[in-house]
Amino acid sequence: PTIHDTAHDTAALNVLKRVWGYDAFRGVQGDIVRTVASGGNALVLMPTGGGKSLCYQVPSLLRPGVGIIVSPLIALMKDQVDTLRALGVRAAFLNSTLSLDGVREVESALLSGELDLLYVAPERLLLPRTLDLLDRAPVALFAVDEAHCVSQWGHDFRPEYQGLNVLPDRYPHIPRLALTATADDRTRADILSVLQLGGAPQFISSFDRPNIQYRVANKEGPKTQLLDFINAEHRGDAGIVYCLSRKSVEETARWLQTQGVDAVAYHAGLPSRERNSAQERFLNEEGLVVVATVAFGMGIDKPNVRFVAHLDLPKSMEGYYQETGRAGRDGLPSTAWMVYGLADVVNVRRMLASSDAPEEVKRVEAAKLDALLTYCEAATCRRQVLLSYFGEELSAPCGNCDTCLNPPSVRDATREAQMALSAVIRTGNRFGAAHLTDVLMGHATERVVSLGHHQLPTFAVGAAHDEKYWRGLLRQLVSLGYLAAGEHHGLSATGKARAILKGEQTLALREDTLAPRPSKRDRDR
Ligand code: ADP
Ligand code: ZN
Repeated sequence: PTIHDTAHDTAALNVLKRVWGYDAFRGVQGDIVRTVASGGNALVLMPTGGGKSLCYQVPSLLRPGVGIIVSPLIALMKDQVDTLRALGVRAAFLNSTLSLDGVREVESALLSGELDLLYVAPERLLLPRTLDLLDRAPVALFAVDEAHCVSQWGHDFRPEYQGLNVLPDRYPHIPRLALTATADDRTRADILSVLQLGGAPQFISSFDRPNIQYRVANKEGPKTQLLDFINAEHRGDAGIVYCLSRKSVEETARWLQTQGVDAVAYHAGLPSRERNSAQERFLNEEGLVVVATVAFGMGIDKPNVRFVAHLDLPKSMEGYYQETGRAGRDGLPSTAWMVYGLADVVNVRRMLASSDAPEEVKRVEAAKLDALLTYCEAATCRRQVLLSYFGEELSAPCGNCDTCLNPPSVRDATREAQMALSAVIRTGNRFGAAHLTDVLMGHATERVVSLGHHQLPTFAVGAAHDEKYWRGLLRQLVSLGYLAAGEHHGLSATGKARAILKGEQTLALREDTLAPRPSKRDRDR
């Protein structure tokens, strides 16, 4: 580095030490700070928890003027500002929660150069009044947080973010920094175009969290499976257990308590006093397990969370990555553990299908769910599947996920898939897994007989396998998109199924969830 660079770096490290008490930058933080502090633009792609905030906070303190942070997370602004003020940073925010007097106070502080950092909601920034103000104020830089919100492709699209093209047009000489934790190629291209960051350096951090061991198991008795997992590997450790519904959050927490696990429930329906106390205890105690809905975790930064367990399927790969990413921020071995079954796949698929979102959005969401299901069914290294979704290639299997540690065997199941698909079609594309399993196995239940399904050619064709086999197979067919879930959990064959039925395509499936029926002798032993 030149003398000039060295001086810059020293100043940056001084600020880091003096204000935050940290000794060094993490990963690419130092390079980003250097780029922006010396007036350059940048795109920062870093996973959640990677340390994006310092990338704009430190340069804002190093450059003359105020750093303007555009963020859609109004609910978090006050906390962020309070935290910064406690560190001695002159910070403020402008959003719709302020009174008119509050707004005036911030505006006058801005104009008289009494601020280091100002958080602004995008819709507030775009008001003529705010832009006039910024024309007259000394601005150090613009940081656009959650920058993926510019893109229509994402589930976080915010139309106001597209108005941010005003920044390069109106303030071409003020450095612009775009930050996000989620950006596929299309999203990244949108960010570059709206903020005109074409020639700017892109700082892309790896999404890999090598200390997290990824595991996915077939859901059999979720509560017992969870307890066994905690007792065997994480007794006395801090952990988070995610459930989909408030009811199952409460039931699971209560049950863990009766089993001697120090557990507490957390969901948005609890009184704020209870929620705050759960959060406080989690942060301050060593071995508490929080059973929660996805409402838990935003803005929580506890380094020694040893496991994250999912009793229900998240809605997307992004959600899964973010939630599991709360484990092991201290870099020590941690576990991301999940159980899922056919009912989960059916439920999430139906929830997405029945939402009021525009078709375009639904398609994107369905694709994100598909990615997660593919991950769940993967017979190859999970970390490779996960990272490839985020556009990253891991050259060799990781050795630290369940499929690496216990490679599942994969078997040709084309014939069985044909049986299942034809059972679905011959019964009219409207029955659920339990009934289909009865038909396949040849159980002449009352319902089967009353519907005349015992006379179908598919009746009993699958008697050689057991119930677990057929449920596992049906789940994989739904996960992989050969079957679709409709009203009342009814399954129907999709267009994709035709190739398998016609024998034009073969299907290899994981064998672990399709365990062969034990022979009679085995069972009698
Ligand atoms: P992100 O915004 O990318 O999710 P944050 O900026 O909130 O991440 O940082 C996550 C955590 O890492 C915070 O607790 C932060 O204080 C800590 N952190 C970030 N950079 C450093 C560093 N250089 N040294 C020590 N801790 C850091
Ligand atoms: Zn692996």
